[in-house]
Amino acid sequence: MGVDAEQVVGIDLGTTFSAIAYVDAQGQVRTISNREGELTTPSAVLIEPDRTVRVGREALLAKPERPDRVATHFKRDMGEKFYREPLGGKEFSPEALSALVLKKLARDAKHKIGPLGGAVVTVPAYFGDARRKATQDAGRIASLEVLDIINEPTAAALANAFRQYVRLGGDSASFELAAIATTAPSTTLVFDLGGGTFDCTIIRIEGERLDVLATGGEVRLGGVDWDVRLVEHYCEEFVRRHGVDLRDSPESLAQIQALCEMAKITLSTRSQTVIVSERYGKQLHLPINRRQFEELTSDLLTRTQISVETLLEDALLSWDRIDDILLVGGSSRMPVVAEMLGRISGKKPNMDQAPDEIVAHGAAIHAAILHMHTRPATATAGDGSWTLSTEEIGETQSVEPPPAPDLFAPEVVEATRNVKMTDVNSHGLGVVVRDPRENRVVNSLVIPKNTPLPTERVKVFGTEAANQRMVRLRILEGDTRDPRGCAQIGECIIRHLPKGLPKGAPVEVTFRYDTSGRIHVRAVELQHATSAEVDLKRDTGFEQVDLDRLKDAVSEIELE
Ligand code: AMP
Repeated sequence: MGVDAEQVVGIDLGTTFSAIAYVDAQGQVRTISNREGELTTPSAVLIEPDRTVRVGREALLAKPERPDRVATHFKRDMGEKFYREPLGGKEFSPEALSALVLKKLARDAKHKIGPLGGAVVTVPAYFGDARRKATQDAGRIASLEVLDIINEPTAAALANAFRQYVRLGGDSASFELAAIATTAPSTTLVFDLGGGTFDCTIIRIEGERLDVLATGGEVRLGGVDWDVRLVEHYCEEFVRRHGVDLRDSPESLAQIQALCEMAKITLSTRSQTVIVSERYGKQLHLPINRRQFEELTSDLLTRTQISVETLLEDALLSWDRIDDILLVGGSSRMPVVAEMLGRISGKKPNMDQAPDEIVAHGAAIHAAILHMHTRPATATAGDGSWTLSTEEIGETQSVEPPPAPDLFAPEVVEATRNVKMTDVNSHGLGVVVRDPRENRVVNSLVIPKNTPLPTERVKVFGTEAANQRMVRLRILEGDTRDPRGCAQIGECIIRHLPKGLPKGAPVEVTFRYDTSGRIHVRAVELQHATSAEVDLKRDTGFEQVDLDRLKDAVSEIELE
């Protein structure tokens, strides 16, 4: 790799921890440690009164003392206007807070590997349009070129395939072969239980293709919910013994949350532990064992089990068709997770790769593949000299390599050429229509959930009344027939319809959904070809000026 090459990276922007990785010139995937020497960086932001910003471990450690100045778990609020609590009396958007985490990851990575040329950032498969765009915006605010947004389970499966291949003695420079780690096609269930979100996904790897068959999960279910159960348990006991509710003080609550998370993590490797805290001169020493903890949280685990079983039904698969169960996300380390999956599937789940780094690794592999696919074909000329055609310089001659050298050895580039990935949409997309039989508005699905992307679907509807002059399509994201169970993500309006159209005049609606989750809608009144089209913008999103303003503000912030 030459000194000026800009390195592409993969970033797992997690609810509780984030990680950044890259593929080196020889095809090895490496996690880049932060300035503190950690492979994962807590997704925590501390904003001091003098506007100094600290991101990572230091911010997380400050949370119990200064909960009003430290933001955590803001990924859960992505797509909302503001982070749920003001910091030092000021409101911050989840995008801006995420941008600060990205800025730290990028700064520390640059320090280690030199300038960055762009990043693939991962999101839970279950994220809808608004949350995906918010993640993309966070990248822009952090002045990072976001090459693509991919789903976390897809990234994990990609990293898993790559690792299996290398373990079987494959050459790590060969990504293409990595995608066919097993000679037979294989189907993997990725169970990803992180800090704040739960995703489960079924992915099939066949030849050079990596296809997502179905995806499910819950946006608001993760390790933090397990912590909350312990917090409630401890605080109730404190009230019972001392008549004081620790939850009334944000400082006490933050301290107990940190202690309970530690106790939970201890219970993954030990059968019992003790939670001890002292507040207001009163102490509580509360022993807890793994069985009690599992009882306190059993309904949460059942929710993950129901999601997995529904997913298999959606994919029309039974357990005997699943070859590998891949455990991803820090919370998969709770032994009860593997036990439950082992019990319902009859198979042993696979946790060979660090569950907290695997997603960033997959994102880095995808970034490398994208980089190589977009690289000009001439750049693969193997001997280091570049040949220009006769039209350009009058005669064929060899010249020195161009000033920006490439990132990867030619054999790595060659090996990735044919790798293909297809993903599916995690939510249905539809429009609000009136159903005459029920005489009520319903969500008429145009693109059902779990459709391979990119896709284009057409559906024809009729105007509701005679002489209708305008059609207003309300575009929904969600799978329920009742529009109240869906999110409205945009509108498409055809104006100035010709006079005198009969009731039921056909209107053709086309939805196009591309691989990075962008949605394009076109509606045409068929008799006179009057039409309208929109690229969907999310309703809560930023205008370009706001994005630029935030980008300037974030770029001026000096991270400590
Ligand atoms: P992730 O977002 O994937 O990094 O997952 C973070 C979540 O995993 C947090 O809720 C952590 O408390 C949880 N976690 C990390 N390590 C463990 C462990 N050994 N046992 C149980 N939970 C863990």
